[in-house]
Amino acid sequence: MYDVAVIGTGAAGVSAVLTFKALGLDFLWLGLPALSSKIAAAEQIRNYPGLPFVSGQEMKNVFLRQVEEMGIAITPQTVTGVYPMDGHFGILCGQELYESQTVILCTGVESVKPIPGELEYVGRGVSYCATCDGFLYQGKTIAVECTAKELEHEIGYLAGLAAKVYLVPLYPNPAVAAENVEIIRGMPLAIEGDAKAERVVFRDRTLDVDGVFMLKQAIAPSVLLNGLETAEGHIVIDRQCRTNIPGCFAAGDCTGRPYQYAKAVGEGNVAAHTAAETVKKARSAN
Ligand SMILES: Cc1cc2nc3c(=O)[nH]c(=O)nc-3n(C[C@H](O)[C@H](O)[C@H](O)COP(=O)(O)OP(=O)(O)OC[C@H]3O[C@@H](n4cnc5c(N)ncnc54)[C@H](O)[C@@H]3O)c2cc1C
Repeated sequence: MYDVAVIGTGAAGVSAVLTFKALGLDFLWLGLPALSSKIAAAEQIRNYPGLPFVSGQEMKNVFLRQVEEMGIAITPQTVTGVYPMDGHFGILCGQELYESQTVILCTGVESVKPIPGELEYVGRGVSYCATCDGFLYQGKTIAVECTAKELEHEIGYLAGLAAKVYLVPLYPNPAVAAENVEIIRGMPLAIEGDAKAERVVFRDRTLDVDGVFMLKQAIAPSVLLNGLETAEGHIVIDRQCRTNIPGCFAAGDCTGRPYQYAKAVGEGNVAAHTAAETVKKARSAN
């Protein structure tokens, strides 16, 4: 079992793992190996101390070099659920289960808000994870909303299972070459159904489907961890970055505004220290 699992490879996650490395904790870092695409998104960053006027891409390269040179590895996984167990956490990534004493959520914010019906039908026809739930739709018809090009590989996986895929790309120039994939332009307005999700509604059409995949860079925190206290979509934390769930901490954009690198890095550091303190206390109690 790990001392701590850090979920998310943005600025907050980078800061947390650098702190754990310095503190000598046994940690697991889960997320995109190329780091968060948001880190690289800025044209020019003027407000981050020590790196004046760099582009987001340059900042991302510096972060990547720093973690590599510190010997820190990313476990390339999307976390689909965090489950408090007896004094520790189970972290589910598709079929893979990791265990950790504490968890830091550095999951950022998803700019695409949930549509009506989406959260209601999670687990009843709506899924956020292709590799976890794709097999349920073998030979069936599915709709896939994909919010970022980085997630495109998951569409290929789903197209290999489903008979028909309606792809709703929310980014320009989708490049998915599979005969059973039909690209649908427009924003989905709602997911409807009865006991389970059955339809995706657009302004000009309705698609009948067996299931809906919402491929996003960040999953709503309350979906990831049941019982997590949130306010207006953000995780509620105290000054030590503690959430309402003992042993679970949060840092960065996911805890609220301002959405800025400096705030994310600062909270990542605070959350790491609080988690380290928690691990130390638990060790001395045993
Ligand atoms: C266009 C643009 C320009 C910007 N310019 C500036 C600027 O000039 N100055 C400034 O201070 N800030 C700027 N920002 C904001 C800055 O990018 C963010 O504040 C910062 O990246 C937040 O870091 P974070 O670690 O909290 O979240 P993110 O960088 O969003 O990282 C979160 C990571 O967690 C991952 N994740 C989410 N859920 C899961 C899961 N279930 N399993 C595994 N991984 C998961 C995501 O994929 C992502 O990689 C800009 C943002 C944008 C979009």
